Amino acid sequence: MPELPEVETVRRGLAPTFVGGRIARAEARRPDLRFPLPERFVGRLTGRRVEDLRRRAKYLLADLDSGETLVMHLGMSGSFRLERAVAEVVDLGVSGSATPATANGAPDVLGDFYYDRSKAAAHDHVVFHFENGARVVYNDPRRFGYMDLVATSALEAHPLFADIGLEPLGAGFDATALSMALQGSRAPLKAALLDQRRIAGLGNIYVCEALYRARLSPMREAGGLKPAETRRLLRAIREVLEAAIEAGGSTLRDHRQTDGTLGYFQHRFAVYDREGVVCGHKRCGGIIARAVQSGRSTFYCSACQL
Ligand SMILES: [Zn+2]
Repeated sequence: MPELPEVETVRRGLAPTFVGGRIARAEARRPDLRFPLPERFVGRLTGRRVEDLRRRAKYLLADLDSGETLVMHLGMSGSFRLERAVAEVVDLGVSGSATPATANGAPDVLGDFYYDRSKAAAHDHVVFHFENGARVVYNDPRRFGYMDLVATSALEAHPLFADIGLEPLGAGFDATALSMALQGSRAPLKAALLDQRRIAGLGNIYVCEALYRARLSPMREAGGLKPAETRRLLRAIREVLEAAIEAGGSTLRDHRQTDGTLGYFQHRFAVYDREGVVCGHKRCGGIIARAVQSGRSTFYCSACQL
C-alpha cells in the first residue's frame, strides 16, 4: 500500500503534466471505484484547467479552475501511467534532468506509479486526456482507490479532511505541534503515531523506521516524552520521510534512464521487516525484534530504543 512518501513521489511525477494543463477530455470506464464516482464526473472535468496539484496526507488534490478540487486516493493498488503522443522534452519534476521523449510519434510511456504491476487495460478505469496530448491513466486492479470532486473552499471541512492531523512534511510540523498532538495520550507511541487524527499519512513502515531512528521504544506512553525526545522524534520522522521521497525520486530517474518505466520503489529499511538482524546503530549490538501491537507488526531494537 502506498504510504506518504510514495504518494508524494507520485505527486511530483504527475505535477508537470497536471499543473497548468487543461483536461480536454476525461473518460470514466466504470461508474465506481471503491465508491461511486461523483455525479457528472466527466462533465465537471472536461475543459478544466488544473491550477495546482497538492497532497494532503495520502490524498492527491488537483485544484481546477472551476473552483472544484479533484480528490484522488490510490487505495491499495492504484497507479497512474503517463503517456504522451508528441515528442518533446519532459521534465518529471523529481529533481532529475529532463529526458527527451521518443520522436517516432508513438505513445511514449513516461511512467508507471504502482504497487501491483498491473498493465491490464481492463484495470484502466479513469483516463485524463490533456490538451497538449498527454494522457494520464488511472489503473487499479483491486479498486480500493477513489476519486471525488469537492468545492476547493469546502475542502478542509469535508469529512475526508476535517479530522486529519498534522502534515508531517508541512511547515507547521514542529516540536510544539508534535508535543501538542501527543499530549495526554496514554496510548503506546507506535499507536499514537499511526493515529491519522494526530499525524497524517504515517503508516506502519515509517512509524517503525522513525522510532528506530529516534531510538524511542514503540511501547512508550505517547504523552510521556521529554522535550528532547520529542525533538528527536520530530527530526526522525522528517528524515525517514525525506529519505524515502529522495529514494523514490532516484528510482524514478534510474528506471527512466533504462526503459522509460518508472516507479516501483523497493526501499531499503533499517528496521522494518528485519527481525533477527543485528541492530545497525553504532555500539548497540542488539537484535531487531518483532512485536505485535494492535494486530500489526512492530520492528524495533529493545537494546537501544528506550
Ligand atoms: Zn539497537
